[in-house]
Amino acid sequence: MLSKNAFSALLILLALAFMYTALSGSFKEVKTISISELVGKINADQVVKITVMDSDLTITMKDGAEFLSKKENEAALSETFKNYGLTDEKLAKIVIDIQNPSGVWYWLAVLLPFLLPLLLVVAFFWLTARQVQRANIQAFTFGQSRARVIYPDNKKERVMFKDVAGAKEAKEELVEIVDFLKSPKKFLDIGAKIPKGVLLMGAPGTGKTLIAKAVAGEAGVPFFHMSASEFVEMFVGVGASRVRDLFKMAKKAAPSIIFIDEVDAIGRHRGAGMGGGHDEREQTLNQILVELDGFETNEAVIVMAATNRPDVLDPALLRPGRFDRRVIIDLPDINDREAILKIHSLKKPLAKDVDFKRIAERTPGFSGADLANLVNEAAILTARNARKEVTQLDIINSIEKVMLGPERKSHILSDKEKKIAAYHEAGHALVAALMPDTDPVHKISIISRGRAAGFTLKLPLEDRHFYTKTHFISELAVSLGGYASEEVVFKEFTTGASDDLKKATDLARALVTKYGMSEKFGPMAFSGHEENVFLGRDFGSSKDYSETVASLIDSEVSNFMKNAFKTAKEVLTKHRDVLDALAQKLITEETVERDEFANFIKSYGLV
Ligand code: ADP
Ligand code: MG
Ligand code: ZN
Repeated sequence: MLSKNAFSALLILLALAFMYTALSGSFKEVKTISISELVGKINADQVVKITVMDSDLTITMKDGAEFLSKKENEAALSETFKNYGLTDEKLAKIVIDIQNPSGVWYWLAVLLPFLLPLLLVVAFFWLTARQVQRANIQAFTFGQSRARVIYPDNKKERVMFKDVAGAKEAKEELVEIVDFLKSPKKFLDIGAKIPKGVLLMGAPGTGKTLIAKAVAGEAGVPFFHMSASEFVEMFVGVGASRVRDLFKMAKKAAPSIIFIDEVDAIGRHRGAGMGGGHDEREQTLNQILVELDGFETNEAVIVMAATNRPDVLDPALLRPGRFDRRVIIDLPDINDREAILKIHSLKKPLAKDVDFKRIAERTPGFSGADLANLVNEAAILTARNARKEVTQLDIINSIEKVMLGPERKSHILSDKEKKIAAYHEAGHALVAALMPDTDPVHKISIISRGRAAGFTLKLPLEDRHFYTKTHFISELAVSLGGYASEEVVFKEFTTGASDDLKKATDLARALVTKYGMSEKFGPMAFSGHEENVFLGRDFGSSKDYSETVASLIDSEVSNFMKNAFKTAKEVLTKHRDVLDALAQKLITEETVERDEFANFIKSYGLV
């Protein structure tokens, strides 16, 4: 930004310098003669006219030629001539024209060398000052808040509700906030209590930040945006003062919105933390609570906060009068996905065959951010192939890239590795095809992708909102299908199954501790399995069950795993001929698509 300004300043400077030279160059090249030479010419009756400007003399000759000369500054011209012995009659024959040097250009030419540097300095300071003002809230010192602001007149960054696809319920809830910010008086006049805090909850990438911006955009108020982790940055004591600053600024700009992103970074349960950062977090959180409580009801400042971990928030934040409005933003359903895809491809040239409905069908579980990324990947793919329009195939190919990472064709497997990978993936796919209530296999491949050596991609036919136990039991068997296949075929295991094992173990543990799907425990949930113990309340918190129960849980988990492995092995052993054929197909073709796979399975009279 600064360099851009410096560049334009340089340009101006160059232009001025050019003008200056052009101007002075526009005077004709004329010969300069001395006064004695001039007197000689007058005596020879060659001179018609002398134009005097200051000490400069312009001499016009009979033949039209011009010369320049200079007299002494102070002395009058007639005086000078007399000193050179010029007679009065000779002098009387020529016209003497005395001009006041008042021309604009003259003055410019005189003043420019002094003014120019001054102007440049002034311009520099002005530009810098303007920049500081723009980012006026961006701080030079630790204590000041680091908030970014979007002003309502910022057309480029402003977001409106129409830019947010889907999220219908969330928008409906938030319209009320918009109304209030637009005309606070209307509400206050009838004594309505205005919510101070709104908590947006939803998975990462579901558009929480976006929708908060849209509320500010719709209401036409400034949007102060800060991530909670920015409050607490290495230096103890700054968090609280940043909070104070932020609220002060927002109140000054009222009506306005304060948006605290990822509030769980400071809003976790106070109490049992760990490490030095904890005190700081607590102070920052306290300061937020103080500010929230200190709001007068007539201050039209609304605090919005976003989190994807509402479960770990300190209950004090959720009390009435604080973040008591809660808006849940779900992952987009099929129609929302279609709408989001449309919004993000508005400015991209699309081929006629693009069908967003079908893309939406193939992307269950994608968040808004994933979909935005998908469209972008498709555009990149198009550009890289030097085509002008994004086709349906580009988008479909990008789905896999977004889900699994880029293809690594250079990652070449030896023949032996290829065989193992083929049997591994064939194992997953076959178990998936033969177990009840599983998601259909979408694609099998032994081309490495991201971290995986190969993959079996399964996609649900529709959005699922809940899952059955049968589904989970089948999923466990499918996860272990690769591992089981290695055992059945090679009587040996490889490291390739480690991710599968981890995923399956996590799922089995959840079945026991979360979903109450274990027969031994029945309807029981056990807490104490938070993954994120960093700085949280969970660190060192005792489990709410005894060691005996813990070991029982472990044995239940192990039962689920063993059964799943047994099931997978049985399926694969029973259909060993299909497994061999499928693995062979993968070794030769490397990739098998959904329809091809379905036909293949059918040709063996299965399903
Ligand atoms: P979050 O804050 O919930 O993690 P963001 O608001 O940062 O998610 O969303 C990331 C990006 O995903 C947005 O900038 C936008 O491009 C896209 N996006 C997410 N949800 C939507 C939506 N409902 N409509 C349009 N774009 C969306
Ligand atoms: Mg966000
Ligand atoms: Zn696997």
